[in-house]
Amino acid sequence: MFRVTINGASHDVEEGQTILKVLHSLGIEVPALCHDARLKPFAGCRLCVVQVEGHTRPLTACDSLLTQGMVIQTHTPELEDWRRILLKLLAREYPSEPIHRFPEKEFHRLIRSYGLEKECLGATSAGPVDISNPYIRGDMSQCIYCYRCVRICEEVQGQFVWQIWNRGDATRIRPDSGTTLRESSCVSCGACVDTCPTGALEDKSVLSMGAPERWTKTTCAYCGTGCEMEVGAREDRIVAIKPALEAPVSRGHLCVKGRYAFEYVYAGDRVTHPMIRKNGDWSPVTWDEAITFTAEGLRRILERGGPGSVGVLGSARATNEENYLAQKFARIVLGTNNVDCCARVCHAPSAAALKLMLGTGAATNSFDDIELARTILICGANPTENHPIVGARIKQAVLRGARLIVIDPRQIELANYADVHLSPRPGTNVPLLNAIAHAIVQEKLHDESFLKERCSGWREFQEFIKSWPPESVAALCGVEARKIREAARLYAAEKPAMSFHGLGLTEHTQGTEGVMCLVNLALLTGNLGRPGAGINPLRGQNNVQGAAQMGCDPDSLTGAISLNDGRNIFENIWRQPLPTAKGLNLMGMMDASLDGAFKGLWAIGYDILLTNPNASATEQALRSMEFIVVQDMFLNETAKKFGTVFLPACSSFEKDGTFMNAERRIQRVRKVIEPRGESKSDWEIICRLAGAMGKGEFFTYGSPEEIWNEIRSVWKAASGITYPRIQRDGLQWPCISEDHPGTKILLTEKPRVDKRAELRRIEYRPSTETITKDYPYLLITGRTLYQFNAGTMTIRTKNAELRPQDCLDISPADAERLQLRDGERVRIRSRHGSANLPVKISRAVKPGELFATFHTPEIFLNFITSPERDGYVSAPEYKRTAVQIEKT
Ligand code: SF4
Repeated sequence: MFRVTINGASHDVEEGQTILKVLHSLGIEVPALCHDARLKPFAGCRLCVVQVEGHTRPLTACDSLLTQGMVIQTHTPELEDWRRILLKLLAREYPSEPIHRFPEKEFHRLIRSYGLEKECLGATSAGPVDISNPYIRGDMSQCIYCYRCVRICEEVQGQFVWQIWNRGDATRIRPDSGTTLRESSCVSCGACVDTCPTGALEDKSVLSMGAPERWTKTTCAYCGTGCEMEVGAREDRIVAIKPALEAPVSRGHLCVKGRYAFEYVYAGDRVTHPMIRKNGDWSPVTWDEAITFTAEGLRRILERGGPGSVGVLGSARATNEENYLAQKFARIVLGTNNVDCCARVCHAPSAAALKLMLGTGAATNSFDDIELARTILICGANPTENHPIVGARIKQAVLRGARLIVIDPRQIELANYADVHLSPRPGTNVPLLNAIAHAIVQEKLHDESFLKERCSGWREFQEFIKSWPPESVAALCGVEARKIREAARLYAAEKPAMSFHGLGLTEHTQGTEGVMCLVNLALLTGNLGRPGAGINPLRGQNNVQGAAQMGCDPDSLTGAISLNDGRNIFENIWRQPLPTAKGLNLMGMMDASLDGAFKGLWAIGYDILLTNPNASATEQALRSMEFIVVQDMFLNETAKKFGTVFLPACSSFEKDGTFMNAERRIQRVRKVIEPRGESKSDWEIICRLAGAMGKGEFFTYGSPEEIWNEIRSVWKAASGITYPRIQRDGLQWPCISEDHPGTKILLTEKPRVDKRAELRRIEYRPSTETITKDYPYLLITGRTLYQFNAGTMTIRTKNAELRPQDCLDISPADAERLQLRDGERVRIRSRHGSANLPVKISRAVKPGELFATFHTPEIFLNFITSPERDGYVSAPEYKRTAVQIEKT
């Protein structure tokens, strides 16, 4: 600690801090227009100058470190005169109108506090106002050249959009296009708007609806990164969202979805009253009618078909509390273990592989390890588009010197930053990862002591892996052996090495085994249980980790406890017997429906028709059911075609609860606005339906916090996480008592929670989706930055202007051969169906491979995708479908 004197008072402060940081922490306000705590000190505006004893000239507080015994004055008359002169010079170039219109802007506040309003003499010519971006207005007549936009785009987002053009008086800040933001490489994250201290860069929503009157901290409802945000509302309407500065994951940053894509809440086609389908048409009904009708429908099916004939799908969009109740409802109201969620179609293979090999089916490390890793391995994930805040943090880490290995068939954005990019043929992850393991062992790069102390099966694995030399899999995978060895050396030698993986690894017939191969690499190299390492699935949807962890899984209860292990605990607390029959997962429910044995489904926040693979089979399965309850904000494709009852649900802005992000962090979701129309929180609907089915006494919750407290009682690993404890920051489980700090890194003492971790010998089983003369291309499906999953939410926002429709990415060589032009429509046909969509010529895909998104019902890409499934957990093979292309 240092002892310093500031404005005559003594303070003990921690070493290594800037003067400005300490002043702010003491509540001493010193203006600093070019300063943002998220950025490196810049010392450009020179407003933060302070007088330090022993120095003849004032020091800039933002970039000067405090030292022992410093004596500082912050507001002498000379310093204040200096600030007034500087501000006056800025004011002369600044228009007066915004000062009054947006009084809270940092620069406007300063102008007023120094009494300089009358000095604002209007703008110099600074080019036209840029309204090309759907969310951001640029009016450079209000630019004061603090360069915060330029710096935040570089230092936080890593996009380098804003640039300084010209010199001296002719200096201007413009996008990299030199013209408009729309034509630039801008990704609409809004970081520049957030840091801009004037009105030069502003959210259009604020300009049109006015500045927020109140802010509420909550958690993003899109991907599993778990960014925290401040949602600004005027009266009862959301008008803006900004990043929460203190957020542990997002650290004051958001992507375009979290920052701007909230207008779906007010979409004209949002359904906010319950409806029943009568004679083929939807009719609005009261909640009482809807609940009674639903209860009768489910009861009827139960009477005729028994508990095996109905099922419930929880939702990655719903809170932990709601998913907990969904599975409790299935188990004690319907008496069935037929309960699942969309983890089935994405990361169920990760959970299974991690549980099998390491004892816990979740990420071993935290996003904070990104900055600690010397090497980052990304396998089958595209973080800059699908987990953009993670992507931005990885990019920054690499720009600071971390090594990067990317395994992805496509030239994704991060591949441009990679030391090694391995681009395997879709479906060849297992041989490729085995070959990396071979190179590690053969070149003696493995961690002998880690293997000896913590693993089993080492001798057998050595034998097994001999038959996987990179040189013999190179042709199969389409990757040079040299590059495989290079990746192996980096991952094994430049430690700690952290891996992230996504659906490019899991959504294959060998998805679970692919993840096991990745775990093998971590075990071989000792990249587990330490900072900057680990195996980390990037969970797709905001609460998909939570939905499965809460027990929306036929084989496990809350906390991923198996039915057998948890039976006593749950029966004691629920005061009801648990069903004993094995449950069906989502894919099993579809199969059973086709067989006539499954008749009733309650789908909460999940458009299975649009998102399940092989949509023709899903259609047939849904058509064979008698009673389908859809609980959603919109009449999704499942509801439109097959729904019997529609129960209107709230958005996450209209309710309280918690989400669980991809690093096991439980974070608060807070109500910002009242529910629209008659919509209700999922938990309230579940409780009402339980009541109507005669089990209301087991669902008597007054609030999400009460539900969470019950969750804590059944799930020991979360028992220390209380609502008051996560008021400010979330906590990562395991957190076993109220004084436990939560767990950032798993397996620090042993590589498996209960015993030694066993290296697995994974043989390669090729997919049955093969290329032939009739189906010569391999189609990979996935998401994009601007649209999210089924597109239900993002398509109803201005993100639709940024990416209006699904398209088929094709290599320039294939496009030339097929004489296709950008934008031309084609029909792609697989063995399972066909779809019509426009072509986008892209160097990111290789010849013979294609990439398409599945966001829009107009294209309905899942009519093409394959019925193949992972051998362990039935996750579908979305990432490899053989297709042909026809010009339309
Ligand atoms: Fe939301 Fe994910 Fe974007 Fe963060 S990265 S703002 S959680 S969509």
